[in-house]
Amino acid sequence: MVKKDIIIVGAGPSGLVAAINLNREGFNVLVREKEDSVGGPPGWHPSVHTTPVGEDLFDYIGIDLSEAFVDSTDVLEIYMNGKEVGDLKSMIASHGMCNTERGHRESSLDSILYRIANKEGVKFEFNKPFTKEEFNTAPKGTIIASGLSPGIYEWLGIEYSVFSGYWAYSEVEKNFISNKFYFGLTNEYGYTCAMNGIWYVLLFARRGVTPEVLESFKKQLNSIEGRSFDKWRRFLGNTPKWPRLFYKDFILTGTMAGFVEPAFGGGITGALLSGKISAMAVTEPEKAEVEFNRFADGIKKVIERKRKRRGQYMPSLKMGKIWFKLP
Ligand SMILES: Cc1cc2nc3c(=O)[nH]c(=O)nc-3n(C[C@H](O)[C@H](O)[C@H](O)COP(=O)(O)OP(=O)(O)OC[C@H]3O[C@@H](n4cnc5c(N)ncnc54)[C@H](O)[C@@H]3O)c2cc1C
Repeated sequence: MVKKDIIIVGAGPSGLVAAINLNREGFNVLVREKEDSVGGPPGWHPSVHTTPVGEDLFDYIGIDLSEAFVDSTDVLEIYMNGKEVGDLKSMIASHGMCNTERGHRESSLDSILYRIANKEGVKFEFNKPFTKEEFNTAPKGTIIASGLSPGIYEWLGIEYSVFSGYWAYSEVEKNFISNKFYFGLTNEYGYTCAMNGIWYVLLFARRGVTPEVLESFKKQLNSIEGRSFDKWRRFLGNTPKWPRLFYKDFILTGTMAGFVEPAFGGGITGALLSGKISAMAVTEPEKAEVEFNRFADGIKKVIERKRKRRGQYMPSLKMGKIWFKLP
């Protein structure tokens, strides 16, 4: 039997989960990545991300990624305007938070997924950005997993929001795990997070972080964490305004699908789940649409919650563990 070809644009977590699943189903999968390795834009990583990971996640995506995650629920601390808040902490902790490393290092989630994909026979082309012209002539069913990269939204005519902020990191002992959130500074939040010898810190907002707000974040970090970070880097990225699985003849996944985990808004958990659903969209489009909407209903609630709070992001008390219940 001739294997059908599938192109996946982007080798982030969503693209890699889709690639592994489709390869297992007998497709001839080619992942096109614009950078020279996995791990996303070098200007953003290495980093540590934090995301809620429920028990069923790895079963759902069909890939055991437990070596990429470390439980950080016990060390979680939540600050609002510089003061620790207990109720928000127990609510977030009830989702079970984990840290994961991103970037090109061997210990990152990206590298772990890449090793699995590579071993199982997925083909990769690095240093090969999918161009505007190629999007115009791409085969039906091409999966777009290109993340926050700004240009593609314009090329495809997808409405987007802009997020930007600052991040920094410093080296730390390998076994040091931390996870702290800082609300009240912007309409999103800041966090600090450590594992694998990296102490990572990020502050972001919709419409940007002013230099004054960045300075007050630095002061809070100094007094709460007893640590300062000297080299701050700016980042900027786009996300779609609304979740969507199918667009024109494409299948969208991860950030491009506007897919996050809806209790907390975790992009990593969203990317992993979404990668699985986008693979399903190739073989069983109707089932995938139902599955996508089952999760996306919660994502729409996240967006509504933001609107009601005049744009201020807050995690939800209500979602609890229903997020990970399988049908
Ligand atoms: C600084 C930062 C901190 C974050 N912190 C957290 C956190 O703490 N917790 C959390 O859950 N989420 C966090 N996120 C969000 C999380 O990183 C994303 O939700 C997740 O990476 C989405 O995965 P993805 O596969 O959709 O896209 P990505 O991981 O962004 O991967 C997209 C890939 O596509 C490639 N690409 C782009 N354009 C092209 C092209 N034209 N051709 C070929 N390849 C292309 C890119 O190089 C990249 O490798 C953070 C994001 C950033 C930027």
